[in-house]
Amino acid sequence: MEVFNGKSVFGGIAIGKIYVYQKGEQQVRRIRTDDTEQEKNRYRAASKETMEQLQALYEKALQEVGEENAAVFEVHQMMLEDDDFVESVENIIDTQTVNAEYAVAVTGDNFAQMFAAMDDDYMRGRAADVKDISERLITVLSGGAAGGIQSNEPVIVLADDLAPSETVQMDKEKVLSFVTVHGSLNSHTAILARTMGIPALVQTGISLDETLDGKMAVVDGAKGCIYVEPDEDFLAEMQAQKSKEEEQKELLQTLKGKENVTLDGQKIMLYANIGNMKDLATVLQNDAGGIGLFRSEFIYLESEDFPTEEEQFAIYKKVAETMAGKRVIIRTLDIGADKKCDYFEMEQEENPALGCRAIRICLTRPEIFKTQLRALLRASAFGNIAIMYPMITSLWEVYKIKQIMAEVKAELTAQGISYGNPPEGVMIETPAAVMISEGLAKEVDFFSIGTNDLTQYTLAIDRQNSKLDDFYDSHHPAILEMIRMVTENAHKAGIWAGICGELGADLTLTRDFLEMGVDELSVSPGRILPVRKIVRETDVSEYRREKREKE
Ligand code: PEP
Ligand code: MG
Repeated sequence: MEVFNGKSVFGGIAIGKIYVYQKGEQQVRRIRTDDTEQEKNRYRAASKETMEQLQALYEKALQEVGEENAAVFEVHQMMLEDDDFVESVENIIDTQTVNAEYAVAVTGDNFAQMFAAMDDDYMRGRAADVKDISERLITVLSGGAAGGIQSNEPVIVLADDLAPSETVQMDKEKVLSFVTVHGSLNSHTAILARTMGIPALVQTGISLDETLDGKMAVVDGAKGCIYVEPDEDFLAEMQAQKSKEEEQKELLQTLKGKENVTLDGQKIMLYANIGNMKDLATVLQNDAGGIGLFRSEFIYLESEDFPTEEEQFAIYKKVAETMAGKRVIIRTLDIGADKKCDYFEMEQEENPALGCRAIRICLTRPEIFKTQLRALLRASAFGNIAIMYPMITSLWEVYKIKQIMAEVKAELTAQGISYGNPPEGVMIETPAAVMISEGLAKEVDFFSIGTNDLTQYTLAIDRQNSKLDDFYDSHHPAILEMIRMVTENAHKAGIWAGICGELGADLTLTRDFLEMGVDELSVSPGRILPVRKIVRETDVSEYRREKREKE
């Protein structure tokens, strides 16, 4: 057994095989299977989904570039349904008893070679098309994105580092744990692992070696260790520890349905952070009072092009309806810094975290912003949606947002399209926003403090820079004072203030947040019940007295 130490992103124990994830390339693996029927069904379902994607692309292209140019997608649809192509894929699955991805890749290569060898120019040109559709099919089969997980069972994903766009596109059912060689504790990939509630480590001194692929391993998230090829005794010990942790989780379940109220009667709202509709199941399982932060940019990161108004509307409406009247705070897109989308075609920047990100993109490219606002306004007629704007630094930004919002509402009214009237809040995640919070509070309906960026900008530490993790002190007195100040300024103006950064889930600070009068904590779904436990065990006036005595 070999042991590698790293830093813990999220606790818990994962036991399974290692899957070495290689960046960028669509590696197709040949995996033997006994259940060829299941593979053929996976192939048929993927083919159907690919067909739908191509239809959507055809319709989009038809509008944007005309019928002649859109026709290529019709050709792709025809190829996808071609009897010879389908027969070849299913035949390979049956005769070689292999996975669908491999069968599609081999068929794609064979057909491409066949087209490339033809005399006719037009037919030779089809070689690229057939490669294109087989790659699209493989992408769908492996969970939605290039580089998805190709495995029949859930695995421990071992990667050099993971970008947020790669992490969101992985099939969550297939991931037991994330282990990276590099990576920062404060990155969005780390945040996603916490949202998923799975054990995760960064900065493990392991070398990304292909020979690790398929080896049995145990990840101890709390200790920050990965054990490769554990012996039987150790495996049994870890299995027992895992069962114990599961029992403890079960115990927390008794807190479901209980109020978030302290012993002396102070209440706090406990909401969940999500990045995806798929996270809704854990939100409901953990009894969240609402959604305090829906990182809508993940919809953009999962797309290959700007998500349309209809696509966004469908997602926001679904989330609002699923939450059945509970508040759903949707943050407008926070693209930029580590969250990159190629199709935004952003210029390279020296300091992307200080560059054109979040609300700055929305205010300089209002057509993108307006599409999202239209979708949000329309969806808010179907549930309790609130809108939240990220990276605010100045009052003029809020005035500009209001002006754009008024234009969007006027356009919807003129078109006879119905919409709701959602409350609007801002994120307090820059020191500038903290300092002008008294003025900001008069302009908006709520505050949500983004401690991840607030720490980055206050302490002048790039949250992505893993070498500075020891300097990234989220308990720094400057940060805690800022939270107090923002909460007080919110209350003066009669609005509420919450925390949606990772610090909100820090159980060692829950009592301090209560003492400051913070109204809401929005945390990863798996943290709701542990925070509720502390809230219900706290006597705030007693804690305040203890603190005064210490001073
Ligand atoms: C934050 O900055 O604290 C926050 C919640 O937003 P994000 O982590 O997505 O930047
Ligand atoms: Mg932020």
